[in-house]
Amino acid sequence: MSIAQNLLQIKSQLPNHVTLVAVSKTKPVADLMEAYNAGQRIFGENKIQEMTEKWEQMPKDIQWHMIGHVQTNKVKFMAEYVSLIHGVDSLKLLQEINKQALKHHRVIDCLLQIYIADEKTKFGLDETELVELLTSNEFKELQNIRIVGLMGMATFTDNQNQIKEEFEHLKEIFDNTNKLETLNLKLETLSMGMSGDYKLAMDCGSTMVRIGSSIFGNRNYQ
Ligand SMILES: *Cc1c(COP(=O)(O)O)cnc(C)c1O
Repeated sequence: MSIAQNLLQIKSQLPNHVTLVAVSKTKPVADLMEAYNAGQRIFGENKIQEMTEKWEQMPKDIQWHMIGHVQTNKVKFMAEYVSLIHGVDSLKLLQEINKQALKHHRVIDCLLQIYIADEKTKFGLDETELVELLTSNEFKELQNIRIVGLMGMATFTDNQNQIKEEFEHLKEIFDNTNKLETLNLKLETLSMGMSGDYKLAMDCGSTMVRIGSSIFGNRNYQ
């Protein structure tokens, strides 16, 4: 099946309240354009340089989501245009995003990444760190960022029960923190689910799925 067919097939399975991020990392602009021409306007990338090159070349009504781990010193390269940053996991990073957003007279939407997997390699905050961050005075001073939700990645495993438990755990944290609301905090988005587990993630309350290989085919890392 073509990229356009894959995309439309996946979209037909998503309820209205679930947003599709087409994860286009490593893929050429021609592939992204095929998805664009089939109606897709939200793309996810995990490297700032690659995302910026694509942003420069592609139509300006695209919303670019940064889904990878962000290094503080690179925030400045995407601050002008990025629409949502999924993987924020520290106050220091938030402060830098705030600073760069201010330079561009913007408010940048962010998701906080929560650690739910059973893998040392994954990033994120636990629930205690999350609450600490959100209730700190330093956080409340940040007027050029807005935390609009949480993001998480399940363990890379075939064990569906384990994945389900991890997604349920994230949903529980989301519901617990949902009641907190300040000027720069209003949790609405729960970003969880990829090609292999997005149906399960939606059953567990996901409102945003990040799907790459099921749309664009397998990635070829060289
Ligand atoms: C690559 C990536 C995805 C998409 O993975 P697929 O399995 O290709 O759908 C989703 N989320 C993050 C954070 C990623 O890095």
